[in-house]
Amino acid sequence: MNNDNIFDCIVIGAGVSGIQSALLLAQHNKRVLLLESTLYIGGRARSFIDKQSGDCIDNGQHALMGCYTHFLNILSTLKTDSLLYRQHHLSVPFMYSDGHSDILKADVFPAALGVAFGIMNLKKLSLSEKISALYFAIRIRLGFAKSGSLTAFEFLLSENQSAHCIDILWTPIILATLNGHPKEVAASLFVQVLTLAFLGKKDASTLILPKVGLSDLLSPFPDWLAEHNGIIKLGELVEEVVFKDKKPSAVLTKSGEIYHSNSIIMAIPPKSIKRIIHKECKEYTFYKALDQYTFSPIISVYLWIDVEFPDIEFAALLGTNTQWVFHKNAFMQNNISSTLLSCTVSAGNNSIDDEGTSIAIQCLQEIKLCFPSIKHAKLLHWKVIKEKQATFLATPEIENKRHSPYTDIEGLFIAGDWTNTKLPATLEGAAISGYHAANAVLASKSTVFSHS
Ligand SMILES: Cc1cc2nc3c(=O)[nH]c(=O)nc-3n(C[C@H](O)[C@H](O)[C@H](O)COP(=O)(O)OP(=O)(O)OC[C@H]3O[C@@H](n4cnc5c(N)ncnc54)[C@H](O)[C@@H]3O)c2cc1C
Repeated sequence: MNNDNIFDCIVIGAGVSGIQSALLLAQHNKRVLLLESTLYIGGRARSFIDKQSGDCIDNGQHALMGCYTHFLNILSTLKTDSLLYRQHHLSVPFMYSDGHSDILKADVFPAALGVAFGIMNLKKLSLSEKISALYFAIRIRLGFAKSGSLTAFEFLLSENQSAHCIDILWTPIILATLNGHPKEVAASLFVQVLTLAFLGKKDASTLILPKVGLSDLLSPFPDWLAEHNGIIKLGELVEEVVFKDKKPSAVLTKSGEIYHSNSIIMAIPPKSIKRIIHKECKEYTFYKALDQYTFSPIISVYLWIDVEFPDIEFAALLGTNTQWVFHKNAFMQNNISSTLLSCTVSAGNNSIDDEGTSIAIQCLQEIKLCFPSIKHAKLLHWKVIKEKQATFLATPEIENKRHSPYTDIEGLFIAGDWTNTKLPATLEGAAISGYHAANAVLASKSTVFSHS
């Protein structure tokens, strides 16, 4: 056996969860091999150059929040945290399709009180809706509101939130953070989002946007790993986890390479795990439970237009199919060829099979309704990116059954935004899952570290 091919741990998948696992293990002086099937790192969080415009765009616009401590720690380790645009306080413009606007601001009072006060200032809510929303926020903050196994919608009704208030206040938050509709997603996760992000410390609720492409945020990682005695191999599709005496001993890749380790983290989606696991594992509980996940799409629409856009970074759109618009020229570091808007349709099941052209045209029409000042804008170019399985769908049923980093096989671990992080599928959820899996490896008594 070639000693160069023996590792303390092999991490499969260089998305955010795999990167976090490899990073933590390397920080603990473990010799790590990170294997990625594609030619880039970042997984779903990546960017590329649009050929026609020459502009850098993401696989889908990503927004971070101040409470993303694990993900922000990765960026600080890689020294790319300076490439982020940060709000001073939460400020979300709401633009309605009837041309009216509102703003949710948390600038007057610190912490949770700031967001609660911001709700009181929303013009579209009636006084009784504001009082109910405020009372609800206080109950969440004090831990009095019990979500049980309700959907977010059932829970909001049980907390006396009107259908109108659910529509214009809570639904945009739920769609943006859970990528599912209030009637689908678990109330427990919604409560977690409200508690950590919106009703936590003041900085927790601020929105953060990358000033560069997502790939640029993570690009120093391969060099960082090399400096820490680790190796990353791109274009290495893992085809099989090899077992010896019912424990993992190696992985076999499509290129025919075999890499050895007694500790393996599979930081890949459930369906990919099923492809690489040996037949003898199929009776294990963790394996059977991989079938339980369903997924929700996100449609990202990039629009290049010929007029200037109002001087805002982003806005939530209401009464439209498109839910968010991001004004890239307002926060990106590099010059952009013309006005570039990136728009998001979360949980976009209704339009996922529509033609790209009609999605782009409808999206611009909706933005014109919300921003009448650009009603004469012409579309110069567009790009529609459909991620059919953007995130797992966090239903109440699945929330109680998400996988832990441990499998029922010694030495075999799992990471990924779909595992049990008590968070929605986000960059922060992915980072936390990678952190948990690496800690599970470090704590595992059975692990035989060959080099350390
Ligand atoms: C369009 C879109 C918009 C989003 N917006 C936001 C947002 O605004 N804010 C936010 O916080 N989150 C957002 N997310 C979610 C966020 O991107 C994900 O939660 C996170 O990137 C998931 O990371 P991961 O490591 O769990 O999985 P992945 O990113 O899927 O990484 C898995 C990696 O494993 C590799 N792989 C798979 N099988 C194998 C194999 N057999 N061998 C080797 N490698 C393999 C894959 O190529 C991939 O690189 C968005 C996601 C999408 C798709």
